[in-house]
Amino acid sequence: MIILRGIAVSGSIGMGKAFLFTSKPPELRRVRIPEKNIQTEQERLEAMLTSTRKELKELQAGIHKSLGPEFADLLEVQIQILSDPSLLETCKRNISEAYSAEYAFSKAVAEIAKPLLDAKDGLFKERLADIEDVTNRVLRNLLSLPSVSIIDAPSDSVVLAHNIPPSEVVLLDSRRVRGLATEMGGRTSHIAIIAKALEIPAVLGVEHLLEKLKDDEQVVVDGQRGQVVLAPTEHRVSIYAAEIREYAASRKSLFDEAKQAPITLDERKIDISANIELTSEIGALKRYGAQGVGLFRTEYIFLTKRRFPSEEEQYRIYSEAAKKLKPHPIIIRTLDLGGDKILPGYEEANPFLGWRAVRFLFDNEDIFLAQLRAILRASAHGNVKIMFPMISDLSEIKRAKLLLKRASEELESKKQRFDPDMEVGIMVEVPSAALMADRMAKYVDFFSIGTNDLTQYTLAADRGNEKISSLFNHYHPAVLQLIRRVIGAGHKAHIWVGVCGEMAAEALGVALLIGLGVDELSMTPGAVPVACKIVRNVKVEELRRIANRALGYSTPVEVIRYLRRELSRKYHDLAVLFLERKNVCYP
Ligand code: PEP
Ligand code: MG
Repeated sequence: MIILRGIAVSGSIGMGKAFLFTSKPPELRRVRIPEKNIQTEQERLEAMLTSTRKELKELQAGIHKSLGPEFADLLEVQIQILSDPSLLETCKRNISEAYSAEYAFSKAVAEIAKPLLDAKDGLFKERLADIEDVTNRVLRNLLSLPSVSIIDAPSDSVVLAHNIPPSEVVLLDSRRVRGLATEMGGRTSHIAIIAKALEIPAVLGVEHLLEKLKDDEQVVVDGQRGQVVLAPTEHRVSIYAAEIREYAASRKSLFDEAKQAPITLDERKIDISANIELTSEIGALKRYGAQGVGLFRTEYIFLTKRRFPSEEEQYRIYSEAAKKLKPHPIIIRTLDLGGDKILPGYEEANPFLGWRAVRFLFDNEDIFLAQLRAILRASAHGNVKIMFPMISDLSEIKRAKLLLKRASEELESKKQRFDPDMEVGIMVEVPSAALMADRMAKYVDFFSIGTNDLTQYTLAADRGNEKISSLFNHYHPAVLQLIRRVIGAGHKAHIWVGVCGEMAAEALGVALLIGLGVDELSMTPGAVPVACKIVRNVKVEELRRIANRALGYSTPVEVIRYLRRELSRKYHDLAVLFLERKNVCYP
């Protein structure tokens, strides 16, 4: 048995037979052709580029229908590469030097890829993956080689790969594939986005995964702990099998319960909504019991497109989502690029403290205004609210609202419809905003507290750095004091206050935040059923007392110990949820 570690990106535990996916490029030699064949060779290549583009467009149309627009967008870059007239021109020039179509094509592509090869940046690397992917497809077609596809993964398999190109990852079938592990890929890679949306347990960035793998081996992917277990012992298999059964059973009973309204025993309604990255996630929200979307992270539209989408493209996505969710709300957050979602070509020494979110958008007004107009137009189709992230100063709220006004006027002048009363909120995720919340509350309709960033900035602990993960703890009393302050300031100004950070996805966090007075909790869809169950079985008044006591402790360890003890004593039936360790960043 071998246990490997990687980045936990999605799901629970999956177990099955290894299905090794390799997408090695076909071997190529520098083949010369007789001069008399140059024209036919050029025609052969041109025809193949056309038919491969057609093949990709058909694939894209099918994916659009089955999985939605953002998945389909993953193929857009490749279609564009094949549509570029300069690619055909370069290929033809290479063939006129008497090279075969295959060699001429790969030589032309190598030129395009050259500047990207040295790039450190994530998005550039993603674009390189597109180039490699489309190259392999064209070469296989030119050489009439059979295609190797992830679609062939059998039932109950775990897909293992060095990397999975965009045109393949969209073919993953969550009914057959039990898990996914790759050597490449990070939290914002296309593989992570898709695995999460399909709820396939996935661990990425697993070094030496394929070296250690033997054919047909049993594999376990633990998407919560970030582990891949190769050839587990019989004892381990039985432990994992029990965990999978237990998880499925508890999910079923939670799903059954999730249909009831989230109202506490003392009759307070707490809105439970979901955080989403892709509109394709909306379909499952009702089953989970979510009342709407409390955070739509629009960065992923930009990441799947690998470019800034137009106003029209965004409008289509946002309005479709608003229509699907109506009458429930959808809070669309303006672009939060920067931080760990790095912009191409803008590497910084301290990206989390740098040119992120509204800071970037203020310097790129055209991109900001296009998004504002798209969100406003979508508001004509449902219950849309807008939210600005990374606010650290009141002037930023004023500036963002001025731009929103300008976007509204532009739409009015074109007689385009929008909701003039659309709610405008901010994320409170920077300590300065939390401390100034009383002044800021007068300018907005709601606050949504981003505990992920609020914790990292308050404790000076990078949220993605494993080495200091023991310092990153949203139960730290310093963070809790800021949360209490924000809720108090919001309520004093008669606006509602929600929380959309990971803290809202933990049983202890749900109880504590209700005790601190939140009106709404938004979380990863998978955590919604547990939150609903907790809401329906607690009393706000009791939780308020517990939260007050919790704030009297001096360290996160003390806070967590107290909460576990007190909550499991008070609410016996929920004790398993409050004592669950793996969902809590336990010190
Ligand atoms: C947060 O910071 O808590 C949050 C919800 O936003 P994100 O995780 O996208 O930064
Ligand atoms: Mg944030």
